[in-house]
This record gives sequence, structure tokens and C-alpha cells, in this order.
Amino acid sequence: MTFGSREFDELPVRDELRGKSPYGAPQLDVPVQLNTNENPYPLPEPLVERIAERVREAARGLNRYPDRDAVELRTELARYLTRTGKHPLTAANVWAANGSNEVIQQLLQTFGGPGRTAIGFEPSYSMHGLIARGTGTGWLSGPRNEDFTIDVEAARKALAEHRPDVVFITSPNNPTGTAVDAGTVLALYEAAQAARPSLVVVDEAYVEFSHRDSLLPLIEGRPRLVVSRTMSKAFGAAGLRLGYLAAHPAVVDAVQLVRLPYHLSAVTQATALAALEHTDTLLGYVETLKAERDRLVGELRAIGYEVTESDANFVQFGRFEDSHAAWQRILDRGVLIRDNGVPGWLRVTAGTPSENDAFLDAVRDLKKEQRA
Ligand SMILES: *Cc1c(COP(=O)(O)O)cnc(C)c1O
Repeated sequence: MTFGSREFDELPVRDELRGKSPYGAPQLDVPVQLNTNENPYPLPEPLVERIAERVREAARGLNRYPDRDAVELRTELARYLTRTGKHPLTAANVWAANGSNEVIQQLLQTFGGPGRTAIGFEPSYSMHGLIARGTGTGWLSGPRNEDFTIDVEAARKALAEHRPDVVFITSPNNPTGTAVDAGTVLALYEAAQAARPSLVVVDEAYVEFSHRDSLLPLIEGRPRLVVSRTMSKAFGAAGLRLGYLAAHPAVVDAVQLVRLPYHLSAVTQATALAALEHTDTLLGYVETLKAERDRLVGELRAIGYEVTESDANFVQFGRFEDSHAAWQRILDRGVLIRDNGVPGWLRVTAGTPSENDAFLDAVRDLKKEQRA
């Protein structure tokens, strides 16, 4: 890395990017990797075969640009959301991009930008703030309660005072695992709209793992409410880079103003379509992971840790006087988890049963050491 070097400092980098760090979860080569909320199950072999078939077909047409509007893919995503989200949608309600990070970037390019601001309730997904900065959007950090739920009264005040153009609500939240109920989303939506006609983005990257239903039906009659989703977590396809949003068709039209032409390659579209053909198998893995997540919560509490209620495929636990030192001790035992910089807390992704056992052994040892 050249950050801080003379050569870097002499580059004409935009002022607001100076002194900042890029997103960087460590990618270490460790036996048990439970740090980036990936799905531990590789894609099933019949799906791998189907991807190969569909990509072979797509390869025959790679001399041409892909379907710019990704209509077949958006139709299948709408079908999936209709089936699982208890709310009827069509391709006109859905937009797809290279990961939900790109969806969020397109939303901020369209509804944020220089002279505008976005707010998130922190600790939350750090990329919301980083993408805001990358698009020249001012970033505001909203409050949470001690138990990491959103403090609705404090949030109302912040919305009235700062009048942000874009509001992020992450449910289930990363890194805490906290789900947000529909009443809270509606209260924040109303408070935001009272201040100015702002866009409210509900980031549901982990919703398939939740004990609760998706907040998708809330978009009905609310053209400024957007739900963003991804195939990175529940579909076990982080390497695919496919995220999408559901909203009023007007939002889908608006992001056309900033999307790059042909942003979604024919190979990506073919691969995502193949994965959607295997939805039921993939959602079967989600059920296993939900049970493992609940087991982690129970066992961590039994060992004597504090655990935040989780609706995601990861668990936040503590408390540690020095969470970074604890993270290192667990890593020394061959288990990589995540220190998200929330003082006193660490986050572990639910892995396979044997990976979770290795993690539990490591934190049991750590607890004994702390007691000794
Ligand atoms: C992992 C994650 C995403 C997913 O990003 P992709 O670009 O789709 O891989 C989005 N939002 C949150 C809160 C996440 O944790």
C-alpha cells in the first residue's frame, strides 16, 4: 500500500478522500474463516453444471453487448420476491447491479451527491458511509440505543434537524444482527418525509436469515421507499456480484440516469439466472444456517458472553475490555472473525457446524483465560 507515501500525497486525489482508508476486511489464509458473513456452503454441483451450461450459451453471444435492461433477470428476481416477500412485484419494480454495493452507489449518485446528505444509524454497514463519500454525499451518523435497536425518538430529532436527502435503515443490521420492525421503519419514513421528500433505503442484505418477514410490502404506496437485496449472502453467491432493489417503477427509471450502459455482463446475468433456478436448494442451506446461528447465540450465552439478538447469519458478542486483543487471541487459535470497531464487541459469521464448533472451542478457551 502506498497510502501516506510522498507519491500518494502528490496525486491530485479529491480533498474529501484524503486521509481515508478503503474498505478492507482482512482476507487471511486461516483454516476457519467466519469474518465476512459469507455463506460457508459452496454451490451444489447440479447448480455449478447449470451455470456452466448457461454461461456457455451466453459465451456464443459475447460479441454483442448484453441485455442492457436485464429484463429476464429482473423478471425472475421479481418472481422470487413475490413468492418469498408476500408482495406482488414485476420486473418494472426491480433493478439489478453488480452487488448491492453498486445498487447503493447508483441510489446515492441519483438521490445524493454534492450539497446533499445521507444518514445511517450506527454502528451499521460501513459501506453506506464510504459510498456516500465516494459520491460526494455528506454523511451523518444517527444514534442507536444501548441494546443496538434504533432510538426512534432520537432518530426523529436527527431527521428533523439535519433534513437528510437519503436515509439508510439496515434490517437485519450489520454488524449487530438487529432486525427493525415495520413500525419503526414507518415512523422514520414519516419523520424523514416531514423534513423533506427524501429517499429511504432499507438494506435487507440478510433478510432471508431473519425470524421476521421482509419489509418489502411497505413499498406499496410509498414511492420514496426502496428495499435493497443481494445474492451475496442467502444465495451463497458473494463471488457472483449480484445485488438488486425493489421499489416503485419511478425509482427504477431514476437510476437509469446514472447507471453505466451494459453494466451487468451477459455472464453475470446468465449465472444469476441459473442460481435463481435453484432457489429452493439454496434456501435449504439458509434454514441450516439459521439453526446454527441460533445455536451460536445459545452456546455463547452458556459460556458466559453477552450476545446481541440476531436475525442475520452472524452474531455479535462481548463484552471485551480490549476487543482487538480478543480478536487476535481467537485468530491465534486458527479462527478468523471480525472486529468491526464497535468497542467491546466482536462479530462471528455462522459457518458449518464443524467451523462453529472450532469457533466455540476457541472462545471457551478465551473465557477460561480471562477467568484465570
Ligand atoms: C454484505 C452486505 C451487503 C452486500 O453487498 P454486495 O455488494 O451485494 O455483496 C449489503 N449490505 C449489507 C448491510 C451487507 O452486510
